[in-house]
Amino acid sequence: MLDLTLIPATGTALPPPFEGRHLIDGEWRASRDGRTFDRLSPAHGTLASRSALGCEADTEAAIGAARRAFDDGRWSRLSGKARSAVLLRVADLIEANVERIAVVETLESGKPISQSRGEVGGAADLWRYAAALARTVQGDSHNTLGSDMLGMILKEPIGVVSVITPWNFPFWILSQKLPFALAAGCTCVVKPSEMTPSTTVMMGELLLEAGLPAGVVNIVLGYGQPVGSLMSTHPYVDMVTFTGSTAVGKGIVTAASGTLKKVALELGGKNPQAIFPDADLDSAADAVTFGIHFNVGQCCNSGSRILVHEDIAQDFTARVVDLSRRVAFGDPLDPQTQVGAIVSEAHQRKIHGYVEAAAGAGAEVRLGGGPLTVPGLTGQFYQPTVVAGVTPSMAIAREEVFGPVLSVLTFRTLDEAVALANDASYGLSAGVWSENVHTCLDFARRVQAGTIWTNTWMDGFPEMTFGGFKQSGQGREIGRYGLEEFLEVKTVAMRVGRTRTPWVRTR
Ligand code: NAD
Repeated sequence: MLDLTLIPATGTALPPPFEGRHLIDGEWRASRDGRTFDRLSPAHGTLASRSALGCEADTEAAIGAARRAFDDGRWSRLSGKARSAVLLRVADLIEANVERIAVVETLESGKPISQSRGEVGGAADLWRYAAALARTVQGDSHNTLGSDMLGMILKEPIGVVSVITPWNFPFWILSQKLPFALAAGCTCVVKPSEMTPSTTVMMGELLLEAGLPAGVVNIVLGYGQPVGSLMSTHPYVDMVTFTGSTAVGKGIVTAASGTLKKVALELGGKNPQAIFPDADLDSAADAVTFGIHFNVGQCCNSGSRILVHEDIAQDFTARVVDLSRRVAFGDPLDPQTQVGAIVSEAHQRKIHGYVEAAAGAGAEVRLGGGPLTVPGLTGQFYQPTVVAGVTPSMAIAREEVFGPVLSVLTFRTLDEAVALANDASYGLSAGVWSENVHTCLDFARRVQAGTIWTNTWMDGFPEMTFGGFKQSGQGREIGRYGLEEFLEVKTVAMRVGRTRTPWVRTR
């Protein structure tokens, strides 16, 4: 019997299932063919939501509405000040509705209510930051092209953007994209994951309440086929911004190539953290525990691969095992719970498959390694799991497990740590723990990843930017770079005065 910290079912009465419809041209619509789909709470097994099931006709209608809204300039030709005012109202409305949205987020995703509150409340800051950026869109001018010539570089919204999001942080990831696209002046069609559709619908309600003109943001609920697929191929769409798995991301690149749309991708990760003997090991062990168990390890930024110096490997692993036992797993509706449910049974089986394969290949499961039963709950949970003796060729060290499963590898030198860190097809984020600034900076400069955390893990700020190297993605989100993704660059060359020499000789 594993000695873990478990939070049993709270017995709280659950709210009625959320009913979601598509938002098309400012109206809430059922699907053209009247079909719906259900989402069961992964922790409680009860009906969390029933949503309109998008078909091709719904998707066509949403894309058409976004195209018209862009082309008639009802949003794209507003001043930055006017766009900013709407985004600021959205931020205020998010803050006023945190609790309502957080409960739905927890019921659909299985994540603890404290984290849903943090995700939803924190997203308001992304909207405020993007609101400020809306007033900074600026190009360039050239006054040195000759006395008869003036040059201008204009920054313009790219057009209609398809926004496709995953289930692990539905409200946050939507807010990493949507306010930046809107700040730039784009119009959007949004498709949330079929597992967590409802908080995107709630966002749609807030957008209308904030005064966003009809058709500027349209939402279609449903699956990759046919909704996401049509959003990736349709000729009216100018850009796709996608967060999700690398496999689906590659498919979107292929689908979008028919019309040469711009594609921005935020994909998977297999994120290493190197722990050197001179690090603050208490702090590092706590951060490693947080980095692997936060959101049950279902994070693109999950710190799932730790590289520990040989001299401290035994001691450090023992510390992480000890801390992992103390993390409170259980009913996500209890404010004390730190780790909730796995998103689906299929995903739980996939996680377990990685652990079994590693054990079969000679790795040592130091903690956990199997499903977890939480008293009073019927959903799926997985034990906090620490696997030592992992070698770089094992699947558990190379592939995204997306669960509470930590792989421990060892190194002897800084060069070896850098080589191990870079031995991956992914390059999303990495971390280094040392009190020596040279070690930290050398590691930070040599490791191929979009974010390097130094003596910390998973901190993010709207001002900083986010994105992946290698197969973790292309393009950047948030920060100034996040705005630039949604802007086109136009050259305007102007002749001034009457000095143009005719090309055709008329005499
Ligand atoms: P997923 O790729 O299965 O689905 C993501 C979205 O794509 C969903 O809305 C889904 O319905 C849609 N989709 C599926 N097939 C499609 C198709 N053919 N065309 C268009 N859209 C399609 O990913 P997921 O399981 O929802 O999310 C987990 C993945 O997301 C993990 O790999 C994780 O690393 C990644 N992720 C990355 C980041 C990041 O910022 N880099 C953040 C969060 C999650």
